[in-house]
Amino acid sequence: MNAVNLLEFDLDGLTAFCEQLGEKRFRATQLFRWIHQKGAADFSQMSDLAKSLRDKLAAVAHIKPLAIASEQASTDGTIKWLFDVGGGDAVETVFIPEDDRGTLCVSSQAGCAVGCRFCSTGHQGFSRNLTTGEIVAQLWFAEHHLRRRLNLAEGERAITNVVMMGMGEPLQNYAALVPALKVMLDDHGYGLSRRRVTVSTSGMTRMIDRLREDCPVALAVSLHAPNDALRDDLVPLNRKHPIADLLQTCNRYLEAAPRDFITFEYCMLDGVNDSPEQAKELVELVRGNISCKFNLIPFNPFPASGLKRSPRERVTAFAHVLQDAGIVTTVRKTRGDDIDAACGQLAGEVQDRTRVKQRISTRAPIQIHRSAAHAGSVQKKQETKA
Ligand code: SAH
Ligand code: SF4
Repeated sequence: MNAVNLLEFDLDGLTAFCEQLGEKRFRATQLFRWIHQKGAADFSQMSDLAKSLRDKLAAVAHIKPLAIASEQASTDGTIKWLFDVGGGDAVETVFIPEDDRGTLCVSSQAGCAVGCRFCSTGHQGFSRNLTTGEIVAQLWFAEHHLRRRLNLAEGERAITNVVMMGMGEPLQNYAALVPALKVMLDDHGYGLSRRRVTVSTSGMTRMIDRLREDCPVALAVSLHAPNDALRDDLVPLNRKHPIADLLQTCNRYLEAAPRDFITFEYCMLDGVNDSPEQAKELVELVRGNISCKFNLIPFNPFPASGLKRSPRERVTAFAHVLQDAGIVTTVRKTRGDDIDAACGQLAGEVQDRTRVKQRISTRAPIQIHRSAAHAGSVQKKQETKA
C-alpha cells in the first residue's frame, strides 16, 4: 500500500483518516498540531501520542516534504526556493521579509494555462495542478525552516501572510486550493487570519463565487486593463469572463470578504496600458461601482514577452490620476530582483503539455501607439490559433 501523505489533509480530512484507523477525533487534532505547529516530520517525535498509534501511523502514512532543487537569497532578504515536483516539473516559492511581516508567495500549479502575455509562467504553458499536499508543503517547509534559520523564539512566526501569487492560477486548481487554505487558517494549523491569506486570480468569475461560499479570504484580481478590448489581449480568459461580469462578481464577493475592498493588480506595461487616458478610463470603470484599491506592479521583463517596463514617471503619473479620484493606489516595490523572484518572473521548470508557448508566440505583437488620440489603444491583428 502507498503511504498516505498527511500534508494532503485539512483538519476534517485528517479526522476522517484517523477515524478510519479506529482513532478518536481528538487524536487528529494532536497530530495536526504536531505537523503544522511544530513542523514534525517523524511520528517518533510525537511524544503525546501512544506508541501504538505512532507505529500504526508509521506503517500507513508519512509527512512528505517537497524536494528542494535550489535556494537563492537576495541581498534584500528575499529567499526563493525551487521545488522539484517530479515528472520534469518544478515550482517556486518566495519568502519576502518586511519590517512588520513575513509574506510567503505560494504556487498553485506547475505552469499556467491562462497564458497572460506579460507573465513568464504563462509563457511556459501548463503542466499540472499541484495537490493540496504540495501547496501546503511550501508553507510547512518555509515556516519551519525559517524558524530554525532565524532562530525564532517558541511561539514566534516566520510567516504572517500568504499570497497565492506564485506560479499558476489558483482558481483553476480549486479542489486542491480550498483544503490548503483551510490548513493555513486553522487555529490548530498556521492560524492565519482570513485577511492575511490572499488569493490572486486572473478573474474566473464562477470560481470567485464558489470561493465566497467555501472559504472567503482576501481577494486580489489581476485587472491590467481598463477595457475589454485590451484585457482580451493581455489576459485571454477575459473573453469568457469580461470586465462587467468580473466587477459584479467582485461586488458579490465583498459581501463575504474579510476586507471591505478588492485589490486590483495592474501590471504597468510601457506604451500598452500605462497612459493617463487609460488611468482616467480606469477611474470611470471603478468609481462608484466597486470598493477597491489598486496595486500597480512595475512589469518584470523577460525576453520572450517583447514587452517593456513603464518608466517610473509614467507609473507615478498613472498612480496620481487614480489617487486624485480618491482611489487608494500603491506601487509595488519589486523585491528579489537579483534572483528573478519578482512577480511574473517565476519560471520553475515546466513540461508544457498544452502548447501555450506556441499559442503565445504565434499571437500578433501588441501594437504600441503613442499619439494622444490613440494613447495605449491596441490594434488587434488576426490571431493564429494553436
Ligand atoms: N494567476 C494569478 C496569480 C499568480 S500571478 C493571477 O494572475 O493573479 C501573480 C501576479 O503577478 C498577478 O497580478 C500577475 O498579473 C502578476 N504578474 C505576472 N507576470 C508579471 C510580470 N512579468 N511582471 C509583473 N507582474 C506580473
Ligand atoms: Fe497564469 Fe497569473 Fe501568469 Fe496569467 S498572470 S499566466 S493567470 S500565473
